[in-house]
Amino acid sequence: MIGDRKVNVFFDEIMLGHDPQVDVPYLPSRVEKRVRTLLQQLEFKWSYPEHPGRLSAIKAYLDENPVPNTHFTSGPSATYDQLSRVHTTSYLDHIFSLAGQHAWLDRDTTAVSPDSIKAATAAAGNAIAAVESVVNKEAQSAFALVRPPGHHAEPVRARGFCLLNNVAVAAAHAQAKLGCERILIIDWDAHHGNGTQDIFWADPDVLFFDTHCAAPFYPGSGHLDEVGAGLGEGYTINVPLPETAGDIAFEKAFRDILVPAAEHFEPDLVLVSAGFDPHRNDMALNLTYDGFKVITQIVQSIADRHCDGRLALVLEGGYNLTSLAHGVHAVLEVLTGGEAPELQECGVKEVAEAAEFHRSAFVEDD
Ligand SMILES: [Zn+2]
Repeated sequence: MIGDRKVNVFFDEIMLGHDPQVDVPYLPSRVEKRVRTLLQQLEFKWSYPEHPGRLSAIKAYLDENPVPNTHFTSGPSATYDQLSRVHTTSYLDHIFSLAGQHAWLDRDTTAVSPDSIKAATAAAGNAIAAVESVVNKEAQSAFALVRPPGHHAEPVRARGFCLLNNVAVAAAHAQAKLGCERILIIDWDAHHGNGTQDIFWADPDVLFFDTHCAAPFYPGSGHLDEVGAGLGEGYTINVPLPETAGDIAFEKAFRDILVPAAEHFEPDLVLVSAGFDPHRNDMALNLTYDGFKVITQIVQSIADRHCDGRLALVLEGGYNLTSLAHGVHAVLEVLTGGEAPELQECGVKEVAEAAEFHRSAFVEDD
């Protein structure tokens, strides 16, 4: 029942301070020149899609429609040492040197505004705090509502709206300080989590499972045969999906691939890179809120079975504000103990309702 399980929800207004604007002058650089050229070629005015309104929309919706037994809290910002477990010091020094400035970091839409570094370290820190709260048994699961997102950020490169790889920083912290040896990271964002894959590519203690819209969809990686290397060979699992895949395909991927993989791996902690752009209102893939509920329940049952329920989710993408807010709400309902419905092929439920509605027109009253 909803409310049976306690869920800590991590949120901090510091993360609203990351607000890149494409009209303001950025630090002159090669990237700046290239981005300006690209923007000038567009026939429409481009605005930065990963904006503070994403988090505000989720917070406002959860305030208006609270999920029983969710508790809002926040954690401290990540330290340089915590970040340096997954990013190089040269990259971190560069990122930190941009505090207070506007700059482009990468041509594929990663920019900073004056308060971005504060927001990014808060995002990574709140992901860490979410993990600590489930390992320390303060809650059965946790959801870190953070931005900028993280799963495209590589050890030495910001990419695709991501500055610091929040979920990877949290996983590395759990291994270094919280006694978790084996960590399962599930990435259900519509885009492939290239950064997370890169960081743990040769690591047999992190099993990375990623469902995403297949290349050439951004970032173009995540092919079936990308399975890790060295000792980590077999510990990266990519499930590229066609753009039109939906609830049933997701459920099958999670039940037929993730569940047996987790059975074999026996994780000590389960983390989720939770993006809401696979929702049918958003960029690609056709998940419904019911679909999000079902995959949440599968992930929760994996955590229950293998690691005493230790489960933390970290927000990634999701750009349609309605499906982002409602999607987070649907996931929280299941995390707090709500049931997931039985899935049907898209439209079948609506047809059943329509049939019921129209039936009286053709059936004589007794
Ligand atoms: Zn995404």
